[in-house]
Amino acid sequence: MKISIPTDNDGFVLFRCPLCGGYFKLTPDDAQADDVIEIWCPCCGLKSENYLTDDVIELAMNMAKNLAMDMVFEEMQKWERQFKGSGLTFKAGKRPRPEAENPIIAGIEALEIQQYECCKRQAKIEPIIKLSGSYCPFCGVKCDGDQ
Ligand SMILES: [Zn+2]
Ligand SMILES: [Zn+2]
Repeated sequence: MKISIPTDNDGFVLFRCPLCGGYFKLTPDDAQADDVIEIWCPCCGLKSENYLTDDVIELAMNMAKNLAMDMVFEEMQKWERQFKGSGLTFKAGKRPRPEAENPIIAGIEALEIQQYECCKRQAKIEPIIKLSGSYCPFCGVKCDGDQ
């Protein structure tokens, strides 16, 4: 499995389980580690062949693009302030509209880090399954929730 899609701020890559439709995140290092042969979905506990579907890649790309656009915009705002009073004008303009603004992205950004002591690895999962208990993506063992 080769991962070439962008990671989030914490270095996690987005995956989606084709069986239950749940989203979760792993670090590329863990997902590609030699001792990680199969990946269990932390939501439903089943194994799937491919968690990197086209829509997930597109979603990750859009999110990375939004992040980059925000950074460029903030940089331009800084310039705008620096140019003020120097005789030159520079306008940052309006903040760019995020692409594909949808509830899925909001849900993905809400994913929380879960530590799996069995494998000493981490995954990002939905807060709800973090509470109720999830499956370790690396060995499939059920991990009790925070409750
Ligand atoms: Zn699943
Ligand atoms: Zn484990």
